[in-house]
Amino acid sequence: MERLQKVMAHAGIASRRKAEELILEGRVTVNGKLVKELGTKVTPSDKIEVNGVQIQREIPVYFLFYKPRGVISSVNDEKGRKVVTDYFGQIEQRIYPVGRLDYDTSGLLLLTNDGEFANLLMHPSNEIEKVYVAKVKGIPEREALKKLERGIRLEDGKTSPARVKLLSLDKKKQSSIIELRIHEGRNRQVRRMFEAIGHDVLKLKREQYGFLTLAGLNSGEIRELTPHEVKQLR
Ligand code: URA
Repeated sequence: MERLQKVMAHAGIASRRKAEELILEGRVTVNGKLVKELGTKVTPSDKIEVNGVQIQREIPVYFLFYKPRGVISSVNDEKGRKVVTDYFGQIEQRIYPVGRLDYDTSGLLLLTNDGEFANLLMHPSNEIEKVYVAKVKGIPEREALKKLERGIRLEDGKTSPARVKLLSLDKKKQSSIIELRIHEGRNRQVRRMFEAIGHDVLKLKREQYGFLTLAGLNSGEIRELTPHEVKQLR
């Protein structure tokens, strides 16, 4: 038995708070009966309708995917390019990525059908650390890297403090490998941060998402999160 608003949130109908509002507004029925109490519990076989439309209930699933470069973080692409869900074959659940990695970025991406879980992880207040390794053009000065650490002004505002480590440099080829740890997840953030200090990103990979790593996976491979991992992320 689970609370009605939790089941609605899992189905991706709305956040748990919004689901509560829908219940209080008298827009939700269980097995055809109007339910306006927030404490109501439902079983997996109960039929839940919101505004007269039955919600699709699925067993929540959670995957960790090692996204290759050249794949869209989406469930379909109008240009017919490869999308992340192409790697999942025939699966019953309607999964989607938690946030996104750019087409040219490789690395760790979570996918789920649990809307509440996805919203929770993507919420800016949930400051999950992400670790990126970037190959950038040129060899940044120490002071430029310090700027990234302190926070840098981008067109959508200053970035939060980051941790930056120069892993290696190639004087001949004029490129460097840099590890960047950030807690935000703005669009193309890492690329824009390096552009802002004058060192364009040549290659980008997300190595970690919180405590999760790519250990044991090759590019294009998938594993399910353990129930313990899911619990730790919540
Ligand atoms: N930052 C970027 O610039 N690209 C990504 O794919 C992820 C983070």
